[in-house]
Amino acid sequence: MEGIFDQSSGVDSKLGRVFRRLPKWKMALVATILPMCAHAQQRVTVWVRQDAVVHGQALIGAEAVASKLFAAAGVRIKWCYGHPTGDAISIAFSELTPSDYRPGSMAFALPYEGVHITVFYDRISRATPANLAPALLGHVLAHEITHVLQRIDRHSETGVMKSHWTNRDLDQIVAKRLSFTAEDIELIHRGLAVRAVETK
Ligand SMILES: [Zn+2]
Repeated sequence: MEGIFDQSSGVDSKLGRVFRRLPKWKMALVATILPMCAHAQQRVTVWVRQDAVVHGQALIGAEAVASKLFAAAGVRIKWCYGHPTGDAISIAFSELTPSDYRPGSMAFALPYEGVHITVFYDRISRATPANLAPALLGHVLAHEITHVLQRIDRHSETGVMKSHWTNRDLDQIVAKRLSFTAEDIELIHRGLAVRAVETK
């Protein structure tokens, strides 16, 4: 979840850039796969670094929240712990984040690199009471994992992929009523189709 300083970009142009990097035969394969994968259940492995500073119960609760959000989008998350291999998605937590480093942000991802996510857990734990931290952290994880899965730096006007959550959104997060938009879900599955082709 990046803060008010995020810059959104045109979805079409970013996706076009992704596709232009693929060889022609892979582009043809993606074009064939996309319609079939649009509603298929997808599996994604996410590694949580072993040096995570997050309290165990908070992490388990947050993973459950994120898993539920993705399940509604047709994506099943497999959580692993340790140091990932290959290009699997990897989450690291920061507990001593400098105040002038990405101010206002609770986390950031590298959507074009496609692997690393950093969560500023110290800021999240300060922003909410301990009993509500799993809900907020779960939505932050879902937001950042989605950036990596979609492979583009974009945000939505509503829901989990908003660039900046308002107090009203935070109320929705606590009530677990925030969700992905239809466009978010479509872009997740398009990104997964491209990732599947690239790893073949
Ligand atoms: Zn974001």
